[in-house]
Amino acid sequence: MNIEQVVITHYHEDHTGNASYLQKTLGVPLYMNQGMIESCKTKADYPWYRKFFWGKRKPFIANPIGDSFTSKRATWNVIKTPGHSRDHLSFLNNETGQLFTGDIFVNEKVKVILQEEHIPDTIESLQKILTYDFKEVFCNHAGHLSDGYHSLKTKLNHLTELQDRILHLYHEGRSSDEINQILFPRKYPITKLSLGEWDSLHIVESVINHEAKENAYQAR
Ligand SMILES: [Zn+2]
Repeated sequence: MNIEQVVITHYHEDHTGNASYLQKTLGVPLYMNQGMIESCKTKADYPWYRKFFWGKRKPFIANPIGDSFTSKRATWNVIKTPGHSRDHLSFLNNETGQLFTGDIFVNEKVKVILQEEHIPDTIESLQKILTYDFKEVFCNHAGHLSDGYHSLKTKLNHLTELQDRILHLYHEGRSSDEINQILFPRKYPITKLSLGEWDSLHIVESVINHEAKENAYQAR
Protein backbone atom coordinates (compact mmCIF):
# COMPACT_ATOMS: atom_id res chain seq x y z
CA MET A 1 0.00 0.00 0.00
CA ASN A 2 1.21 3.45 -0.89
CA ILE A 3 1.07 5.97 1.92
CA GLU A 4 0.71 9.43 0.41
CA GLN A 5 0.42 11.62 3.47
CA VAL A 6 -0.08 11.33 7.21
CA VAL A 7 -2.38 13.57 9.24
CA ILE A 8 -1.89 13.66 12.99
CA THR A 9 -4.70 14.33 15.48
CA HIS A 10 -2.36 15.46 18.29
CA TYR A 11 1.25 15.36 19.40
CA HIS A 12 1.10 12.61 22.10
CA GLU A 13 3.74 9.93 21.61
CA ASP A 14 1.25 7.09 21.05
CA HIS A 15 0.03 9.06 18.00
CA THR A 16 3.36 10.32 16.67
CA GLY A 17 5.79 7.53 17.61
CA ASN A 18 6.20 6.40 13.98
CA ALA A 19 6.14 9.87 12.44
CA SER A 20 9.94 10.11 12.17
CA TYR A 21 10.14 6.66 10.55
CA LEU A 22 7.42 7.54 8.03
CA GLN A 23 9.14 10.79 7.17
CA LYS A 24 12.74 9.58 7.03
CA THR A 25 12.33 6.10 5.61
CA LEU A 26 9.28 6.45 3.39
CA GLY A 27 9.49 10.18 2.67
CA VAL A 28 5.85 10.71 3.55
CA PRO A 29 4.73 14.29 4.30
CA LEU A 30 3.25 14.83 7.77
CA TYR A 31 0.57 17.32 8.78
CA MET A 32 -0.53 18.47 12.22
CA ASN A 33 -1.76 21.46 14.21
CA GLN A 34 0.75 24.31 14.03
CA GLY A 35 0.75 24.58 17.84
CA MET A 36 3.01 21.58 18.53
CA ILE A 37 5.16 21.46 15.39
CA GLU A 38 8.12 23.17 17.05
CA SER A 39 8.04 20.90 20.08
CA CYS A 40 7.96 17.78 17.85
CA LYS A 41 11.15 18.92 16.12
CA THR A 42 13.06 18.22 19.33
CA LYS A 43 13.70 15.08 21.36
CA ALA A 44 10.66 13.88 23.31
CA ASP A 45 10.42 15.47 26.73
CA TYR A 46 8.17 13.35 28.93
CA PRO A 47 8.58 11.13 32.01
CA TRP A 48 10.35 7.75 32.01
CA TYR A 49 7.18 5.64 32.46
CA ARG A 50 5.82 6.99 29.16
CA LYS A 51 9.11 6.26 27.42
CA PHE A 52 8.93 2.75 28.91
CA PHE A 53 5.33 2.03 27.85
CA TRP A 54 5.02 3.97 24.61
CA GLY A 55 8.64 4.43 23.61
CA LYS A 56 10.75 7.47 22.83
CA ARG A 57 9.18 9.61 20.17
CA LYS A 58 11.93 10.64 17.73
CA PRO A 59 11.98 14.21 16.39
CA PHE A 60 10.08 14.88 13.15
CA ILE A 61 9.18 17.89 11.05
CA ALA A 62 5.49 18.26 10.26
CA ASN A 63 3.73 20.84 8.09
CA PRO A 64 0.88 22.94 9.44
CA ILE A 65 -2.47 21.45 8.48
CA GLY A 66 -5.14 23.68 6.90
CA ASP A 67 -8.91 23.76 7.45
CA SER A 68 -9.31 20.76 5.15
CA PHE A 69 -7.30 18.19 3.21
CA THR A 70 -7.99 15.75 0.42
CA SER A 71 -7.31 12.04 0.19
CA LYS A 72 -7.71 9.97 -3.00
CA ARG A 73 -11.47 9.74 -2.71
CA ALA A 74 -12.60 12.43 -0.31
CA THR A 75 -12.29 15.88 1.17
CA TRP A 76 -11.88 16.05 4.92
CA ASN A 77 -12.78 18.83 7.33
CA VAL A 78 -10.21 19.61 10.01
CA ILE A 79 -12.05 20.46 13.23
CA LYS A 80 -10.24 21.97 16.22
CA THR A 81 -11.16 19.92 19.28
CA PRO A 82 -8.87 20.95 22.18
CA GLY A 83 -9.27 19.53 25.69
CA HIS A 84 -7.43 16.22 25.66
CA SER A 85 -4.44 18.24 24.44
CA ARG A 86 -4.33 21.83 23.28
CA ASP A 87 -3.44 20.89 19.68
CA HIS A 88 -6.11 18.21 19.28
CA LEU A 89 -7.87 17.91 15.89
CA SER A 90 -10.64 15.71 14.50
CA PHE A 91 -11.10 14.79 10.85
CA LEU A 92 -14.50 14.51 9.15
CA ASN A 93 -15.13 12.97 5.75
CA ASN A 94 -17.80 15.27 4.33
CA GLU A 95 -19.24 12.72 1.91
CA THR A 96 -19.46 9.64 4.12
CA GLY A 97 -19.79 11.29 7.55
CA GLN A 98 -16.89 9.22 8.89
CA LEU A 99 -15.17 10.98 11.77
CA PHE A 100 -11.71 10.39 13.24
CA THR A 101 -11.70 11.64 16.81
CA GLY A 102 -8.14 10.95 18.03
CA ASP A 103 -8.41 10.84 21.83
CA ILE A 104 -11.50 12.90 22.57
CA PHE A 105 -13.65 9.83 23.21
CA VAL A 106 -11.47 6.90 24.46
CA ASN A 107 -14.27 5.73 26.79
CA GLU A 108 -17.64 6.98 27.99
CA LYS A 109 -16.65 7.60 31.60
CA VAL A 110 -13.59 9.42 32.78
CA LYS A 111 -11.71 8.38 35.94
CA VAL A 112 -8.22 9.84 35.61
CA ILE A 113 -6.79 12.33 33.12
CA LEU A 114 -3.39 13.72 32.19
CA GLN A 115 -2.36 16.92 33.95
CA GLU A 116 -2.50 18.87 30.67
CA GLU A 117 -6.10 17.86 29.93
CA HIS A 118 -8.89 20.38 30.37
CA ILE A 119 -12.42 19.11 30.96
CA PRO A 120 -14.31 22.37 30.15
CA ASP A 121 -12.46 22.54 26.80
CA THR A 122 -13.30 18.88 26.11
CA ILE A 123 -16.97 19.64 26.83
CA GLU A 124 -16.88 22.58 24.43
CA SER A 125 -15.17 20.47 21.75
CA LEU A 126 -17.75 17.69 22.09
CA GLN A 127 -20.58 20.25 21.83
CA LYS A 128 -18.96 21.66 18.71
CA ILE A 129 -18.38 18.30 17.04
CA LEU A 130 -21.96 17.21 17.72
CA THR A 131 -23.18 20.08 15.52
CA TYR A 132 -21.72 18.21 12.51
CA ASP A 133 -23.51 15.50 10.58
CA PHE A 134 -21.80 12.15 11.20
CA LYS A 135 -22.48 8.66 12.50
CA GLU A 136 -19.41 6.43 12.33
CA VAL A 137 -16.50 7.30 14.58
CA PHE A 138 -12.94 5.98 14.57
CA CYS A 139 -11.41 6.37 18.03
CA ASN A 140 -7.71 5.69 18.52
CA HIS A 141 -8.38 3.65 21.65
CA ALA A 142 -11.98 2.35 21.49
CA GLY A 143 -11.70 1.53 17.76
CA HIS A 144 -14.64 1.67 15.37
CA LEU A 145 -17.90 2.99 16.85
CA SER A 146 -20.76 2.34 14.44
CA ASP A 147 -23.04 4.77 16.28
CA GLY A 148 -20.27 7.16 17.21
CA TYR A 149 -22.60 10.15 17.32
CA HIS A 150 -24.48 8.52 20.16
CA SER A 151 -21.22 7.55 21.94
CA LEU A 152 -19.90 11.11 21.82
CA LYS A 153 -23.23 12.41 23.06
CA THR A 154 -23.14 9.96 25.98
CA LYS A 155 -19.63 11.15 26.82
CA LEU A 156 -20.73 14.79 26.67
CA ASN A 157 -23.65 14.08 29.03
CA HIS A 158 -21.35 12.28 31.44
CA LEU A 159 -18.82 15.13 31.49
CA THR A 160 -21.48 17.82 31.84
CA GLU A 161 -23.03 15.96 34.76
CA LEU A 162 -19.62 15.50 36.35
CA GLN A 163 -18.82 19.19 35.89
CA ASP A 164 -22.12 20.13 37.57
CA ARG A 165 -21.37 17.89 40.55
CA ILE A 166 -17.87 19.35 40.93
CA LEU A 167 -19.19 22.92 40.77
CA HIS A 168 -21.96 22.16 43.24
CA LEU A 169 -19.41 20.92 45.81
CA TYR A 170 -17.07 23.83 44.99
CA HIS A 171 -19.81 26.38 45.69
CA GLU A 172 -20.49 24.62 48.99
CA GLY A 173 -16.93 25.62 49.91
CA ARG A 174 -15.18 22.26 49.49
CA SER A 175 -11.53 22.11 48.48
CA SER A 176 -10.41 20.32 45.31
CA ASP A 177 -8.87 17.52 47.43
CA GLU A 178 -12.18 17.02 49.26
CA ILE A 179 -14.16 17.01 46.01
CA ASN A 180 -11.70 14.54 44.51
CA GLN A 181 -12.13 12.27 47.53
CA ILE A 182 -15.94 12.44 47.35
CA LEU A 183 -16.29 11.89 43.59
CA PHE A 184 -13.30 9.63 42.97
CA PRO A 185 -12.69 7.60 46.14
CA ARG A 186 -10.93 4.83 44.23
CA LYS A 187 -7.27 5.39 43.46
CA TYR A 188 -5.67 3.87 40.37
CA PRO A 189 -2.09 2.49 40.15
CA ILE A 190 -1.32 4.80 37.19
CA THR A 191 -1.56 7.82 39.55
CA LYS A 192 1.31 6.53 41.71
CA LEU A 193 3.30 5.17 38.80
CA SER A 194 3.09 8.48 36.93
CA LEU A 195 3.88 10.51 40.08
CA GLY A 196 0.53 12.26 39.67
CA GLU A 197 0.71 13.05 35.96
CA TRP A 198 -2.45 10.93 35.65
CA ASP A 199 -4.92 11.76 38.43
CA SER A 200 -8.65 12.30 38.98
CA LEU A 201 -7.61 15.49 40.81
CA HIS A 202 -6.86 17.08 37.41
CA ILE A 203 -10.52 16.57 36.43
CA VAL A 204 -11.63 18.49 39.51
CA GLU A 205 -8.97 21.19 39.23
CA SER A 206 -9.52 21.91 35.54
CA VAL A 207 -13.23 22.51 36.25
CA ILE A 208 -12.60 24.65 39.35
CA ASN A 209 -9.82 26.73 37.78
CA HIS A 210 -12.00 27.41 34.77
CA GLU A 211 -14.88 28.48 37.02
CA ALA A 212 -12.62 30.76 39.10
CA LYS A 213 -11.31 32.38 35.91
CA GLU A 214 -14.83 32.92 34.57
CA ASN A 215 -15.91 34.47 37.89
CA ALA A 216 -12.86 36.77 37.97
CA TYR A 217 -13.59 37.83 34.38
CA GLN A 218 -17.24 38.63 35.18
CA ALA A 219 -16.27 40.59 38.30
CA ARG A 220 -14.09 42.99 36.26
ZN1 LIG B 1 -3.51 11.53 23.57
